Amino acid sequence: MHDQLHLLVSLQDLDTLIKETGDAKRTAELESMGFSVGNIEPLNSARAHLIEKIDKRYLRIYDRLSSKHVRAVVPVENKTCLGCFQSVPPSFFSEITADRVVKVCENCGRILYLLTG
Ligand SMILES: [Zn+2]
Repeated sequence: MHDQLHLLVSLQDLDTLIKETGDAKRTAELESMGFSVGNIEPLNSARAHLIEKIDKRYLRIYDRLSSKHVRAVVPVENKTCLGCFQSVPPSFFSEITADRVVKVCENCGRILYLLTG
């Protein structure tokens, strides 16, 4: 996987965690299920550390997307974007496979990554 993509996927995971930790109702729910919900502070500092490593232009795309969608970074499976379920053109797909660039879906604009086993 492209280095930057890897970081973007990590950022998304972290943001999901931060959102859940910051959500009092969700926190209560998780705690009632026996999960201990940690402090949000270390998550925020991990996030600050992570975004330092991400290229600003990808970060901008990510921020814009994550305000609109639950997931800004989505996998491509069977040449289909799992954000909008439109098929990805073959030429586009080979670029993603080549892994040299970060590509966004032509249809929904989400950042795409390849699901590999
Ligand atoms: Zn899409």
